[in-house]
Amino acid sequence: MPERAENEKIKKAEPEYHLSDFLESHPPNQVSRISKLAQKEYRSEYGGWVDEFIAPQIQLHCSSESCNGERFFRYVDQNKPVITSGDFSFFYATYRCYNCLKEEKTFSLAAKMDSTFSETGECYKFGELPNFGPPTPSRLIKLIGPDRDEFLKGRRCENQGLGVGAFIYYRRVVENQKNRILSEIIKVSEKIGASQEQIKTLKDATEETQFSTALKNAKDAIPESLLINGHSPLLLLHSALSEGIHALSDEECLDIASSVRVVLAELSDRLSQALKDEAALAKALGTLMSYKK
Ligand SMILES: [Zn+2]
Repeated sequence: MPERAENEKIKKAEPEYHLSDFLESHPPNQVSRISKLAQKEYRSEYGGWVDEFIAPQIQLHCSSESCNGERFFRYVDQNKPVITSGDFSFFYATYRCYNCLKEEKTFSLAAKMDSTFSETGECYKFGELPNFGPPTPSRLIKLIGPDRDEFLKGRRCENQGLGVGAFIYYRRVVENQKNRILSEIIKVSEKIGASQEQIKTLKDATEETQFSTALKNAKDAIPESLLINGHSPLLLLHSALSEGIHALSDEECLDIASSVRVVLAELSDRLSQALKDEAALAKALGTLMSYKK
């Protein structure tokens, strides 16, 4: 088979993505096929019709104070980059939140059209600022405390699809911060008046030097308000992290690492909610008591 036909076949076999999808949810450092990369525009400075980067509206997390959620972002520059079919064109694409008009996201990209007659092409993402991926909640950062940097390294690995790396960083964080996590759980248990026996089990777990044994021993002493869909977060973390890394593929590690991050985020949320509810309840009781005759 002639080489050109072979190339065409490979191109057709690869999945094609919408450009918005690629910008929103593809980690950097890979070439992706894009179904509609550019549109024809007349540009006098080029003396005719060119393929202009289509710059679709995209949806991203905006972390400005007024937004703090998924918002539409729009391309900011008047002129869009021109893309050719011969070589890659290199450019930055800057987007701004259309709601608060404050938060920006800049992509560093390379793009190439399949031919002058098609809308399809290839796009490569060198990186983006702020970094790719959903932001790490500040409560989670607070929960892991001194291991913040290790955790963010794990996050970077996860974002780039490096499963083994993400797994190892997250496991290290949970191992190192086991007592910090347990002491937050103890704080909640004491506030909600858990049994002495439960609190003792949790405290004993902080003394246990063997990480896996500690999680296993403490898993059933968790207050109900901290259960995640009925499961003990410590049991979830224990079963995820006790897998031997050598027995797992990179994809499996990535899967487990992502679940560990989600469980940690959920746990940090529930911890802070439980403490907040308790504070609100104490305040309410105090108010009512002061009116008591
Ligand atoms: Zn915004």
